[in-house]
This record gives sequence, C-alpha cells and structure tokens, in this order.
Amino acid sequence: MTATSEIHSAASASVFEVRNPGTGDLVGTYPVHTRTDAVAAVERARAAFGWWSELGYRERAERLSRFAGVIARRMGQLGAVVHDETGKPYSDAVLESALVLDHLKWAGRNAAKVLGRRRSRVGLLSFNHAASVEYKPLGVVGVIGPWNYPVFTPLGSIVYALAAGNAVVFKPSEYSPGVGAWLVDMFGEVVPEQPVLQLLTGDGSTGAALCRAGVDKIAFTGSTETAKRVMAVCAETLTPMVAECGGKDVLIVDADADLDAAVEGAVWAGMANAGQSCIGTERVYVHRSVFEPFLERLVTRARALRAGIDDGAKIGPITMPRQVEVICRHLEDAIVRGGRVLTGGVGEISGQVVQPTVLVDVPEDALAVTEETFGPTLTVAPVDDMDAAIDRANASRYGLSAAVYSKSRGRDLAHRLRTGMVSVNAVFNFPQIPSLPFGGVGASGFGRIHGPDGLREFTYAHAVARQRFAPPMQLATFDRTAKTDALIAKTMTILHGKRHLG
Ligand code: NDP
Repeated sequence: MTATSEIHSAASASVFEVRNPGTGDLVGTYPVHTRTDAVAAVERARAAFGWWSELGYRERAERLSRFAGVIARRMGQLGAVVHDETGKPYSDAVLESALVLDHLKWAGRNAAKVLGRRRSRVGLLSFNHAASVEYKPLGVVGVIGPWNYPVFTPLGSIVYALAAGNAVVFKPSEYSPGVGAWLVDMFGEVVPEQPVLQLLTGDGSTGAALCRAGVDKIAFTGSTETAKRVMAVCAETLTPMVAECGGKDVLIVDADADLDAAVEGAVWAGMANAGQSCIGTERVYVHRSVFEPFLERLVTRARALRAGIDDGAKIGPITMPRQVEVICRHLEDAIVRGGRVLTGGVGEISGQVVQPTVLVDVPEDALAVTEETFGPTLTVAPVDDMDAAIDRANASRYGLSAAVYSKSRGRDLAHRLRTGMVSVNAVFNFPQIPSLPFGGVGASGFGRIHGPDGLREFTYAHAVARQRFAPPMQLATFDRTAKTDALIAKTMTILHGKRHLG
C-alpha cells in the first residue's frame, strides 16, 4: 500500500472535486483530510523519520537521484497532470517538471558537505577545547504548497527537507492535489520501505490541521495573507515556519540595455504561466531615453501572444476563478486613476482567459502597482534615471525578486535592490541554479529554500565543545583566585583594549 492510498483510505468526512480551469472537465476527486488524518500522518512520519535519518547522506542522495530518474522518464505523464489541473500549456508543464531534476541531484550530493559536522575555530580563552557544529534534521516537516508551479515550488521545500534527513507530510493546494499525489506515489516507488513522504489533501482547513498536528516546521508557499494565518496557527505551538509569499517584482531597463532582450524578458516574466508566477514581473521601469522604442516593441510582442484553452495557445487560463476578479479590480482601478491600456484589458477577458495586458500612465499608488495582480499584466513607466527606478522598486512592501537590463551597470543596480533575488540581463534564471537560495524579504516572506541555506532551513545547529586537556587556569570554578581574575583582565586588555583608542 502506498503512502497516498493509505491516507486515501482513511475515513475522511468529505471529498472535493478538481476541475480543469479551461474546460471545466472533472479531473479528480479527493478527500478533505481532517485533523485526525493529519495527526495520524505526522505520527507515521515520525516513525519513518527515524529510519530515513539513519540511512545517511549517501543513501538518501541515491534515493533522491532515483526519484529524479523516475520524474525524468515520466515527465510527459507528470506534465499532463499539471496541465489538467492548472490549465497551463502542456509544454510549460513539462518544462517546470524538468527544472526540478537538478535540485534533486544537488540537494542529495551537497547535504553532507553543507550539514555534516565540521570543526569550528576556538578563541584564546578556549585554546584547550575542540569545537564542532553539525546541522541535524528537525524531524517531520509539513509542506503547504500553491497550485501555480505545483511541481517546482513544493519540491523546492520537500527535496531539501528530505536531503537533510527529515520526513515530510505534503498538503498541496486544493487546485493541484493530483500533482501532489503523483509526486508522493513516485517517491514511494524509490523509497518503498517507510512513508517518508506522505500526502494530505483538502482545503485551508487541512493545511491548518497539518500546522497543529505536531510537525517540527512548516514550509509554506502561498499568498502573504494566508502566510499570516498560517503563522498565527504555528504560533500556538511555537512551530517555526518558512514563508515563501507573493511579490510585485520589477524589471528595470537602463539606457544602454539590449532592448530586444529586455522586451523578451518582460514578456516572458510577465506573461508566462498567465502571469501567475510569484517571481513574475508586474512593473517595468524604463530609462526615458529608450522608453518609446521599448514600449513599441513590447506592445507588438504582447499583441502577438494569445491566451486560450486550445493547444495552440501559448498562455493558459487563470487557474483560480476568484483571481480573475482581482485582475479586473486592479485594471479598473488603474483606468479610473488615469491609466491607459495599450493591449489587452478588461474587455479582453473571457471567462478565465485573460489576454496579455500592457498599461501605461498608472499612478504609483494604484493597486496595479502596489498589490500582487497575479495575471498577465505589466505596468510600464518611464524614469529619468536609474536612481528613480531603484527608489520605485524598493518602495514596495514586497521584496521577492527583480530583473535588471543594463550593459554597463547591471551588477551595481542589482546590488541596490531590496529583494531576495535579482536577475541581470535575463529573467527567471536564479531558480534553476540549485546552489542559489530562493526567498524574499518584507511581505514576500522569510526563510530560504534551495542551496545551502535551503538545506539548513530544515535543520537545527548542534554545537559541541569538547575539553581536550585541563587548562592551566581554571575559569569555571567557584575557587577562582583574585590572581586569575587579574590575569584574565590583563590578557583581555592586551587583546581587545586598544580598539577603544581608535
Ligand atoms: P494561497 O495563499 O491561497 O494558498 C497557499 C496554500 O495554503 C494552499 O495549499 C492553501 O490551500 C493553503 N491554505 C489556505 N488557507 C490556509 C490556512 N488557513 N492554513 C493553512 N493552509 C492554508 O496561495 P495560492 O495557492 O493561491 O498561491 C498563489 C500565491 O503563492 C501567490 O501569492 C504567489 O506569489 C505565491 N507563491 C509564492 C512563491 C514563492 O516561492 N515565494 C512561489 C509560488 C507562489 P488551498 O489551496 O487548499 O486553499
């Protein structure tokens, strides 16, 4: 019996349906797992954790590598599940699945180096000691994932938590439970011995139940507002969490930028996945000297793209019906405040299909500039210089990622952006580099997935200081003499006292 079927057979009170957002076809029916289901899953995970953590880094890396092999061989199958549940084009769904493979390998191969015990330097007062630190797995990690990249995003937490030696209970979004079930079942093929990775399905109530079920950490990815609710639940039991939340990312175009590349970057980062990307570009600031040619090319490129539910459409529908209302509200607010639509707009929305939209003259305090729209929309504004672009970028309460196009100043501009990640002369490049940490600041959340930080995120530091031989002067004793105290004071003054004199 697989981990998934075991939980599916649990006596859950109700079920929910998943429908293709483009066609409305029924894709699957899943149980709404309850508090009892969540507690039982965490208990099973606790037992599995003991076994998995004892397997060691090398064997875990081997299993993760085999998991990558299974995904690689069945990428078409996974892509079809993602397409059916989210509506995104099949080729984009397959691309998303392909991007996780390097992470699986990297996390497995690097876990020992990043987390394994290593020596630490000791100070003069502790010269008779040997010190070391190791990063130990927390135990059971609860992963709550979104639907927009239902493979890449949750695996960013799951893979790193597993590589560090934790067991995982995964609650995917109610819009993409089938993708979650597929991943858990495939992992069960390479780790059949114990339920190291389990699935819970349901809505927000199941997510909240998971937070209360005795997990050692929650890795949450989703909206900023939901993160606050999850954090409040986690606070009840002092359960730590990683919060990977929304963004309002900018793309900055300098006077010397390669304009064609910048246009291509803006269109991809703004419109791919129908704009439903946490790191998607939503605002573009362009040096005034190149604003007109940039805008002209951008609008031409955006008009050539078409959203739809047919196989030929490069952009799929909006996955969640209620998100269409958010997009409409932002567009209408922009228009009321003097914004102009150059292509797309509310009139081009049909059901859940939103055409690529480019807006100009939108004031900086409009919703389309301040709040996450999560649709295929771009606001474009000219700036007198790059200082103004940086100021506007950094004025956001969000701080997830940004992109900069500049031939001569890319690194300098990147350095000045208050975001967790920056792309220079490209977009969406950092998530595919497994050694780079992924995460934001401010309303975009805290904590990191991917890279060494992503591995450490699912561990606790375990420090050991071992006395190798008795010291000539015993400090930790009530028998310490005045002579010893004077010697310490003198030594410390010689070592540190001069600093005060400048
Ligand atoms: P939501 O915040 O609506 O949901 C995220 C997850 O939380 C879902 O699994 C959801 O379940 C669950 N959930 C909802 N309410 C609760 C609750 N009270 N307690 C516990 N869990 C709960 O986000 P979306 O799924 O709509 O995803 C889109 C958002 O995710 C965007 O804001 C996007 O920017 C962000 N995101 C951030 C990323 C990052 O790495 N920073 C990456 C990808 C997306 P259910 O769906 O069943 O309600």
